[in-house]
Amino acid sequence: GAEATIPVLVIGTGYGGSVAALRLAQAGVNVQMYEMGMAWDTPGSDGKIFCNTTSPDQRSYWLRTKTKQPLSNFLGFPIDKNIPRYTGILDAEEMGGIIVYQGRGVGGGSLVNGGMAVTPKRENFSAILPSVNADEMYNTYYPRANAALGVNTIDPAWFETTAAYQYARVGRKHAQRSGFPFVFVPDVYDWDYMKQEAAGTVPKSALAGEILYGNNYGKKSLQRTYIAQAKATGRVTIFPQHRVTSVAPAAGGGYNVVIEQISTSGDTVATKNVVAAKVFFAAGSVGTSKLLVKLKATGALPNLNAEVGQGWGDNGNVMCGRANHLWDPTGSLQSSIPCSGIDNWAAGGAFAEVAPLPTGIETYASFYLSITKNPNRAQFSWNAAAGKVDLNWQTAWKQPSINMAKTIFDKINAKEGTIYRTDLFGTYKIWGDHLTYHPLGGAVLNKATDNYGRLHGYPGLYVIDGSLIPGNTSVNPFVTITALAERNIEQIIATDL
Ligand code: FAD
Repeated sequence: GAEATIPVLVIGTGYGGSVAALRLAQAGVNVQMYEMGMAWDTPGSDGKIFCNTTSPDQRSYWLRTKTKQPLSNFLGFPIDKNIPRYTGILDAEEMGGIIVYQGRGVGGGSLVNGGMAVTPKRENFSAILPSVNADEMYNTYYPRANAALGVNTIDPAWFETTAAYQYARVGRKHAQRSGFPFVFVPDVYDWDYMKQEAAGTVPKSALAGEILYGNNYGKKSLQRTYIAQAKATGRVTIFPQHRVTSVAPAAGGGYNVVIEQISTSGDTVATKNVVAAKVFFAAGSVGTSKLLVKLKATGALPNLNAEVGQGWGDNGNVMCGRANHLWDPTGSLQSSIPCSGIDNWAAGGAFAEVAPLPTGIETYASFYLSITKNPNRAQFSWNAAAGKVDLNWQTAWKQPSINMAKTIFDKINAKEGTIYRTDLFGTYKIWGDHLTYHPLGGAVLNKATDNYGRLHGYPGLYVIDGSLIPGNTSVNPFVTITALAERNIEQIIATDL
């Protein structure tokens, strides 16, 4: 039976959920947030909250017995290793032909990501969110999101001299010699802290290779920004290790939400029912899409429209490495926080981040994560026989991304007389075309929802995360997810409370 009736329940604590919770709390509304991942606020036996990429332990992966590193091989050798099954921080979720990497814990993707905080170019915005007023976004909501996230840029003078960005300077040289625009990329990492890391005056995080499994210092994850502010209102309660499994209309109005409390081995230890007047789906593109598709198909929310589960994209992610000449070393010390990119979006449909390979040794490799204008979109559907939601993405659908990335790297290789690395994703495999870090879509704005994220068919149900965005943002997505959430929650607070 129902234990309580609450005004607002938020599913998930990533960008969308955190924006919703903070702004609702500031408007005087009490909010409960349910997050299936851990709190990540307590140090382990090594004194650190998060483990390092060089020695992943149980904290690294979500309910796996072996690591699933994005770069599976190095110099031809597989590098994955066995770990105890645990509710770790990074989920490598295998969906059809793609592995979707996602953060798990209070703070969602902000715990594991590179912190690259990129506002799309204004001229690209109408293709990203066609139904949204661009003036409002660029005058109000992007600035609001950037300020609240603590976005800052690297000191260009320090960039020129620090050993930790030798790899990025090599990336710049090669980009510019081939005539490509090289751009600095803002980040939520505290650049002053990183300078102190380099000076040896503070504990190291970015300069110790921390990324993917959390940053112990320096990165302003949501725990330090939106969530800290939300908690300070006294109106927000967060329940970690709580997974929402159902949302359905309650007899007396509002919605009955079923929640499983889970142990660190992923087992259900208690089931709770909460009745909420309003529910915000902020479980991320995959999490929200899976919930909505299941709830529609199984009769909990049958009136959701046919757009639910549609329009999913991978933000065109594709990775590759290049083998440099001996006169272009990229450095044995590489900051795990990328700070730059190669912009060939308009001409070739690719924006490539110059990414680190923080192995601790000289690799003579340049490594890149490209975001491309891949037009392919997949859909989620309910697999009744298996009792789960499937995604119909095909690995071959990455080919447009590869072609677009090649507009940059074939040219650089020709100019430099270099070749692609073939040892990073398997044996003799050039392209990392098996994954995405940037799942987007599945409950697209103005299609599955109205133009502010209200789900059609169910007053009081909202989507407020990356699932609203139809598959591509032209750059890294979290600033756009945050800014869109700021726009939508402002409207919802003004009209629906
Ligand atoms: P999320 O941040 O994914 O949050 C959703 C939360 O909901 C999660 O904490 C999840 O555990 C929880 N949840 C899911 N299902 C349930 C459920 N049923 N019940 C309860 N809780 C649930 N983006 C950038 O812009 N810049 C970068 O540098 C960057 N680097 C990245 C690097 C990596 C390795 C990864 C994985 C991602 C990166 N991203 C980056 C992407 C970015 O982190 C995501 O786009 C962003 O986090 C999505 O925000 P969201 O609010 O949609 O959902």
